[in-house]
Order: sequence, then C-alpha cells, then structure tokens
Amino acid sequence: MAKKILLVEDEERLVANLADKLRAEGYEVVTALDGETGWALARGDSYDLVVLDIMLPGLDGLSLCRMIRNDSKASEVPIIMLTARGTEVDKIVGLESGADDYIVKPFGLGEFLARVRVQMRRPPTDRSLAQKQLSSADLRLDITGRRLFRADSEVKLSNKEFDLLTVFMRNPNAVLSRDLILTKVWGHDYFPMDKRTVDVHIRWLREKIEADPSKPTRITTVRGVGYRFEG
Ligand code: CA
Repeated sequence: MAKKILLVEDEERLVANLADKLRAEGYEVVTALDGETGWALARGDSYDLVVLDIMLPGLDGLSLCRMIRNDSKASEVPIIMLTARGTEVDKIVGLESGADDYIVKPFGLGEFLARVRVQMRRPPTDRSLAQKQLSSADLRLDITGRRLFRADSEVKLSNKEFDLLTVFMRNPNAVLSRDLILTKVWGHDYFPMDKRTVDVHIRWLREKIEADPSKPTRITTVRGVGYRFEG
C-alpha cells in the first residue's frame, strides 16, 4: 500500500510542485493550504508523514505541530517542518515542538525527497514511552498521570504549573524566553496576555520546588532574556 503524506503549505505553486514529485515517487499525497484544514485532515485520517510549513495563515505550523503531538491518535507520526531562512531553528527541533526534521527554504527537490525518505525509513519512535516520565535530581514528573513527586512525596501543581515545569524539564539548561514559554504553555491564543503572567507562575512554581524560593537554584532567572531550568 502506498505511504500517505499530509502536506500543509500555503504557497500553492510549492504545494503543487512538491505533491507532484511525491506522487511520482509513489506516495499518496493529501494537501492543505492552511493550518485549520491541516489539523482537520491530521485528525481525520492516519499518515506516514506530515510536512508542515511554519508560516501559515491562521493556525501556524508550530502550533499545529504541537497539536498533532498532543493528539492521542496522530501523535506518533513523523513531522518535517518547512521554514524560511532566518527562523530560529532551536524553536523547531531543539525545543520540544515535536518536529523530527526541518528544511530551510528555498530547498531543492532532491534534498526534500531525501529528507522524506529518511523519515519513511526510520523505525517508529516510541514517543509515548519517552515522554511518560521526566526526572531531574529529586524531582520526578509523571507526564501521563500529570503528577510531580519530590523525593517520593507528591507536590500538588495547578495545570499551568504542571505544563510550565514540563516545558522546563524537557529543555534542561536551555534559556527559555517569556515569549517562548507563553507559546509553549498558553498556546497560540496567548497574545492578549501579559508577559508578567509567566513571572507570576514561575514564582508559584518556585515556591513548590525550590528549597529557598527567594534564592532559586532549579529555575534561575536569566536577566533580560528569560528563565533556565538547571537540569
Ligand atoms: Ca508559508
């Protein structure tokens, strides 16, 4: 049976071009020109690969990528992101968006097909297993059960505190800007929100996980930039 690829990209000529090439290689291709349609298609069927442009009208590619990763049915599918030159690449792969690979535009069709083949050959990642639990020093985060344990006693967290700590523990030692944290924890509808929301939630979280919340050693402040989880 032909392997099936979902292609989400708003540049119609590029979509037509890529779809043609992929079909010529024997793949079945389904296309969407915006994020919402892409999301409906991603949820409605199963695919062997999703190719997502980052800049899309409406729902953007990074948010869509994260929604697919959080979807119980679609979460295991390999995802390749298409990005314009100059985009911060760490936001795509390094920082837990969940993409497996990315290609910087403009790219050659040969390179594109090679990347597609790599993802098709790759043995499926057991993301569910990899994400079940995160540990650092005496902290253990049970992702599936949404519980935090500190030296084996449970620490009660609010939903947002839990999401915030998950982002930090998935990216130990990386400096995360408030913008990035807002996107990761509050999603793409964060725009009306004040960035100080992040500071407030960090303060609450510190009270629960720091030995001395006034002298934090686990979540440290990087002045003028954001916060870092000392993993
Ligand atoms: Ca685009």
